[in-house]
Amino acid sequence: MVYAWSLAGQPTTLASPDAIAALPADDASHLNRYLPIMSTTGKIALFVTVFIIGVSLIEACVLTRTQRNSASPFDWYEVWISLADVAGRKLLALLPLSLATPIFALAWDHRLFTVTLNSALMLFVLFIGQEFCYYWYHRASHRIRFFWATHAVHHSPNQLTLSSAYRLGLTGKLTGSAIFFTPLVWLGVCSRR
Ligand SMILES: [Zn+2]
Repeated sequence: MVYAWSLAGQPTTLASPDAIAALPADDASHLNRYLPIMSTTGKIALFVTVFIIGVSLIEACVLTRTQRNSASPFDWYEVWISLADVAGRKLLALLPLSLATPIFALAWDHRLFTVTLNSALMLFVLFIGQEFCYYWYHRASHRIRFFWATHAVHHSPNQLTLSSAYRLGLTGKLTGSAIFFTPLVWLGVCSRR
């Protein structure tokens, strides 16, 4: 099976329908089971990334104009570094490397429920669950050196702007920090719905 992991908690897959059809029956069945989750969250992650990049470039243009006569004019170098970071992560997403993805798949195999996101209440509960998992992901990223080695890049900008939001480091897939979102999958949250 070919799995890749993009941003924290955002699985995606590289397998095309033809590639899936060419797999042994067990593998194809397994991959088809997870494909909707992975492709949907991958599209959402891509849309959010493009949106944030667009807004951050608008912010950079505004700050360039408003700070042009100040003692510390806006530094576009920070934006270029963040753009290089996100581009590098998108390239690395092509590699089927992750410590977290097999754990994510195992959790889905042994999920307690199959949640249907068909109401405002369920969306709210998912939001709370997502924030809860994100809290522990972020806390661990600051407290545990293994995860901080990647997360430190996010806190490296000298100017705090929106471009900092997508400067997340290049080794997130290797550290498997997405495991902090596994409880949502174990509880049966499927992003296809
Ligand atoms: Zn942080």
